Amino acid sequence: MAVFIDAFKKSFTGGDESDRYAKGLQKRLIKDINQMAENDDYIPGSSSMDMKYNFRLQKNRESAHDISVRSRCITDEKSFTGVSVLMGNDRRYVTRIPVTTCRFDKEYVSDGRTVKRDRYEGTISSYVVFAQGQDPNASYCCPNCGDINTVSQLLEQGCRSCRTRFMLPDLYPRITNYYTLRSKPYVCLSPLPFVLLGILSALLFFFFYSSRQLEMGFEYVFSMVVTGVCGIIPGYLLYVLAVLLLLSLDAVGSNPRLSAFNRTRKKLPLFMQQYDPLFSVDFFVGKVNNLLKTLIFTDDYKNCAVYEQNGENPYKDIIDVEYQGSVGLNDAACDGHYVYLDMDVYTRTTYVKKRRVTQKDDVFRMKLCRSVYVHDDCNASVHNIECRSCGASFNAVREKNCPYCRSPYNLRDYDWVVTEFERK
Ligand SMILES: [Zn+2]
Ligand SMILES: [Zn+2]
Repeated sequence: MAVFIDAFKKSFTGGDESDRYAKGLQKRLIKDINQMAENDDYIPGSSSMDMKYNFRLQKNRESAHDISVRSRCITDEKSFTGVSVLMGNDRRYVTRIPVTTCRFDKEYVSDGRTVKRDRYEGTISSYVVFAQGQDPNASYCCPNCGDINTVSQLLEQGCRSCRTRFMLPDLYPRITNYYTLRSKPYVCLSPLPFVLLGILSALLFFFFYSSRQLEMGFEYVFSMVVTGVCGIIPGYLLYVLAVLLLLSLDAVGSNPRLSAFNRTRKKLPLFMQQYDPLFSVDFFVGKVNNLLKTLIFTDDYKNCAVYEQNGENPYKDIIDVEYQGSVGLNDAACDGHYVYLDMDVYTRTTYVKKRRVTQKDDVFRMKLCRSVYVHDDCNASVHNIECRSCGASFNAVREKNCPYCRSPYNLRDYDWVVTEFERK
C-alpha cells in the first residue's frame, strides 16, 4: 500500500532525475521480458549479475522439464508508471521502485503446444538500485599483474591477462529484482452486472405486482421506466457490498504478511546498522530474492557457493518463483563474528509435473549469515579471490570449492550465504 501512496504523490510532483532514469530502466526491462518470450537465449542486459545468473539457471530448469515459459507484459496508453522510494535514509545505495500497470500473458509451451495460458491484469515493479559516487566507465589496474581492465571486465570474466578473479560490487544503476502482482479481484469487478441485476429485479417486481393496476398507455410505460431506473440504486448498493466483502476477505488473508513486512522494515535496519552503517533494506531484499532463485533453480548444491548445505535440490519441480512484495524477519542474532538472520519470503510459485502446470502461494524460510566485518559498500576495494590452500583464483561467488585443489572457500566472510532453507 505504501508503494502506491508514494507513487500517487509522485504523480503530482513529477519526481526527480533518478525517478525518470528508473522509469526508463523499467521500460527497458519490460521490453527485455517480451524479448525473452520470443528468444530462449536472450538475457536482459539491464539486470544485475545475480539476476542474469538466475535467468540462466531458470532456463535450464525449464528445458529439463521440456517446457518453455513465455511471459509477455503488455502496456498500452492506459498503463501508468509511478515511482516510489521505500527507504529514504540509505547512504550509499538508493533504491527506486517503478510500478507499471499492464496486462500479462503467460504461456507455457511444451513440444510446440501451449499446455497452459494465464492472462491477467496487474502491476510490474522493479528494484532500481543507484550507487552514489560510482563510475561504471572507470578503468582499473589489475592488482595482480598490472594490466589495465575495465571494471566490467574484472567483474564478469576476471583480469584479461592473468585471469585472476575478483570480488567487487556490481555496476549500478541496475535492476536487482523485479516482480509482478495480480490485480485484486475487486479492482476487476465491474458495477454494470450489478446495476443490470437491479434494473431487472425492479422490472420483474413491476410486472408481477404493479402493472395489473395500470392500463396500457403512457402511464404504464412511464411507471415501468421509473421503476427500472429506481432499480439502479439497489443494484449499485449490491456492487458496493460485494467490493467491501472482497476487500475485507483480502485484508484478512494478507494482513499477517503485511504486518510482518512493516515490522521487518523497522526492525531489520535497526539491527543491521549496528554492524553495517550502510545497510540498506531494499538492497538486502533484492539480495534475498536472488538467493532464493539460485537455491530453487540450482540442481545440485554440491558446488553452490551461496548455500552451505550439500545434497540434491528437493524443489526441482518448480519452474518459476515470484516474490509477492513481502518478506518477514523471524529472528536476528550475532555471535561476535557473524550475523544470522532468519527470514520468510512470500512467493507465488509455479510447479510442473508431467507437463501439468500449477500455481501456489508459498512461504520459503531462509537462514542467512554474513561476517560482521562486511559492509554494503559499492565503493569497497576490489577483493582478490585466492584459494587459501593452493593460491589459485576462481569465481568464489559461484563455486563453493577451489576447482584446482577442492579446498572450500568461506564465502560468508565476504557476502551473504544461506545456511538453511525450506518451504514452510
Ligand atoms: Zn591481471
Ligand atoms: Zn585451491
